[in-house]
Amino acid sequence: MRPFNFSAGPATLPVEVLEQAASEMLDWRGSGMSVMEMSHRGKEYMEIHQTALDDLRALLEIPASHRILFTQGGAIAENALIPLNLLGARQSADYVITGSWSEKSFKEAKKYCTPHVAVSTADEGFRRVPPVEQWRLSDDPAYVHVCTNETVNGVEMFETPSLGDVPLVADVSSHFLSRPMDVAKYGVMYGGAQKNAGIAGLTFVVVREDLLGRTLGICPSAFDWNLVALNNSMYNTPPTYAIYIAGLVFQWLKRQGGLPAIEARNREKAGLLYGAIDASDFYVNDVDPAARSLMNVPFRLHDETLNEAFLKGAKERGLLQLKGHKSVGGMRASIYNAMPLEGVQAVAAYLRDFERQAG
Ligand code: PMP
Repeated sequence: MRPFNFSAGPATLPVEVLEQAASEMLDWRGSGMSVMEMSHRGKEYMEIHQTALDDLRALLEIPASHRILFTQGGAIAENALIPLNLLGARQSADYVITGSWSEKSFKEAKKYCTPHVAVSTADEGFRRVPPVEQWRLSDDPAYVHVCTNETVNGVEMFETPSLGDVPLVADVSSHFLSRPMDVAKYGVMYGGAQKNAGIAGLTFVVVREDLLGRTLGICPSAFDWNLVALNNSMYNTPPTYAIYIAGLVFQWLKRQGGLPAIEARNREKAGLLYGAIDASDFYVNDVDPAARSLMNVPFRLHDETLNEAFLKGAKERGLLQLKGHKSVGGMRASIYNAMPLEGVQAVAAYLRDFERQAG
């Protein structure tokens, strides 16, 4: 059996996806070519590309008002590309800071405009999502930016705020496709594929069509959302292999019963793991229970001198990459869609066994 891999990203993939990619590696469906070797303008790749776009639209029920863009640069590049594509004539945008990723987005925006902090939980150690009534929006922001799942801090936004005419822009990198989301309420959703939708190299942007065309003149053409949309994500050479893998993941998700079914599984897995952490004082997760991420579960050992022993023992049991992000320390189990229930059961059992052994 393969070990269970709890990396925050690049992250574990469904074994079926890896096996299918392996079987098609040398010859994609009788074409005589690997997907890596195909021209992006050829009919074989065009079919892979369009099927991935169509499957994503169906899975997330993306309305006709929104375009899907497949691009590059990752979510960190989008931190710059969002102001470049959305500011138009405006000078400011609002940022809701609930963890280290939204904080990073805010800092990058300073290069392009005068961003305003609508609310921040930095002083409280990023442990909750403030309700929308506590957000202080500026007069006429170009958009309001949120990170709906803070990968490092394990804080997830479960309610989608209604902001009237102001577009809501969300970094959904680490919980994309983990549950249904009401795309119509978002101006933009974006993220990297390497957590829940495939491998590194592909960045997805789902953008409301009427927001296209606000791009500043200095924005590089390859990242001008309007140009990318007009060219069906083929303005420049797209990351073809990463799009192919994302397409296999979308098909796998459909076979699992789509997003409502995957959400039920994700809730069961997260419930099991938080239950094991809360069951004893040996482990701590101090995120507000209403904002605990279903995908990224950070926790600490009460006695941090045991960290090394904990990680060593985990590895011996085939539980890989449980070390927390360097900025916060401790442990983190990322339990994305592709993590089977058995993997979470194995961590929960290890938590109990390690405590017994150490205590
Ligand atoms: N935002 C979030 C929420 C993330 O989890 C990550 C990656 N850990 C990033 C942004 C940065 O993504 P990338 O490195 O692909 O640019």
